[in-house]
Amino acid sequence: MTLIKQDDLIRSVADAFQFISYYHPLDFVRAVKAAYDREQSPAAKDALAQILVNSRMAAEGHRPICQDTGMAVVFLKIGMEVRFEPGMTVQEMVDEGVRQAYTNPDNPLRASVLADPAGARRNTKDNTPAVVYTELVPGNTVEVRLAAKGGGSENKAQFDILNPSDSIVDWVLERLPKMGAGWCPPGILGIGIGGTPEKAMLMAKEALLDQIDIQDLRQRGAGDRTEELRLEIYDKANALGIGAQGLGGLTTVLDVKIKGYPTHAASLPVALIPNCAATRHLHFTLDGSGPAHFSPPSLSDWPAIDWKGPPNARRVNLDTLTRADIATWKAGETLLLSGKLLTGRDAAHKRIADMVAKGEPLPVDFHNRFIYYVGPVDPVKGEAVGPAGPTKSTRMDKFTDLMLGEQVGLLGMVGKAERGPAAVASIAAHSAVYCTAVGGAAYLVAKAIKSSRVLAFPELGMEAIYEFEVENMPVAVAVDSRGESVHETGPREWRMRIGKIPLAKH
Ligand code: SF4
Repeated sequence: MTLIKQDDLIRSVADAFQFISYYHPLDFVRAVKAAYDREQSPAAKDALAQILVNSRMAAEGHRPICQDTGMAVVFLKIGMEVRFEPGMTVQEMVDEGVRQAYTNPDNPLRASVLADPAGARRNTKDNTPAVVYTELVPGNTVEVRLAAKGGGSENKAQFDILNPSDSIVDWVLERLPKMGAGWCPPGILGIGIGGTPEKAMLMAKEALLDQIDIQDLRQRGAGDRTEELRLEIYDKANALGIGAQGLGGLTTVLDVKIKGYPTHAASLPVALIPNCAATRHLHFTLDGSGPAHFSPPSLSDWPAIDWKGPPNARRVNLDTLTRADIATWKAGETLLLSGKLLTGRDAAHKRIADMVAKGEPLPVDFHNRFIYYVGPVDPVKGEAVGPAGPTKSTRMDKFTDLMLGEQVGLLGMVGKAERGPAAVASIAAHSAVYCTAVGGAAYLVAKAIKSSRVLAFPELGMEAIYEFEVENMPVAVAVDSRGESVHETGPREWRMRIGKIPLAKH
């Protein structure tokens, strides 16, 4: 019988969540580098470069890859010859590890978990509780697989019960374009097939914890129907042309992972969960001899990419910008922003809308300013802000007409992924503009932020309205002042081009 000490599990979980906050798995780094090398779409290639440079910077600086440091998901396979030191449940031990990881003063991670989800939605402040799954297995060790899953990719999870004769490939190809770019591609698709509805979802999540090996599979050839499906979905998903960040390009998915389970004769449950540009997971085993130790990778494991900003980017001074200036910008063009940039996301937008509805004066003059949809990590050691990548913009769509209208008067917005049709129409109607920063390049973006001060709603914490002073912050014009959206035109163009380009035999 193996005795597992409480402190060993707690310490190991805490160290593991710190480790994955700044070290991408190396199989993921290699897969993004391969995608970067073969990418022909300039916008997607630049996004891949930013993801790789950000990854190396995070590894070097021991700061989070992404500002969304995720919800903790932990799978434990507990050997039946294992005994835990009495006192705490497995959930309590894991939660204590998560608490210590997310409140570590050297690298505080963002607390994103809200209790009472249908009610007060109160932040628990330490990212607990984790979502914990336990399984009893033969043996005398505890195998732990854990992941930090960001909200953007989790929000794109898909589920359906197909007819047994329906095509799973067709279902994935129908769903993937509708998922937009909010899951920060390129990434990995986890697919669960069979079982019951909840079993399919769980398998999709577990599938994401496996190593990227699609190129090995292609070389050795599919040995069964599941492996055939992996290759077919991988090729056809990439032929959709969605590309990195949805900008149009050759690589949307880096691998397709599938787990299956026997199912009812009348059913074909299928679940799909994506992993994003901030893929973060780690595996370790406790055998009673102490906490797990994680060897840091060498920085030489990251490719040396000489990225000094998007090629041919237009330099923009936010402090002197006019509507006439932005009328000359075209969807797909890259910019380097300098000057004063406001921030605001869900809660601040709601407050502004309520104040306008009540006829109250606004705490900030938004006229002719840009707003950045962001909720940064807290800063440490002289940083102006912690990692500060964009959050998904469609959540702000319902406020866009108000924010661009006369009463509020914004000139432009910076966020992540596509806008909905009403927001695009509003941007065109107001001759405004919407730009995107690269989701998953949060530490790189933060380096462009030179100072930060709170202007309004300080009680909202990371959701307060800040004013950033930025210098050469890289963004792309995603919806121009005529309403052309690169998330429409880019994938369409690259889907057609891929139709002409024979798919690469990697
Ligand atoms: S890379 Fe995108 S989806 Fe992933 S955690 Fe960061 S913001 Fe969320």
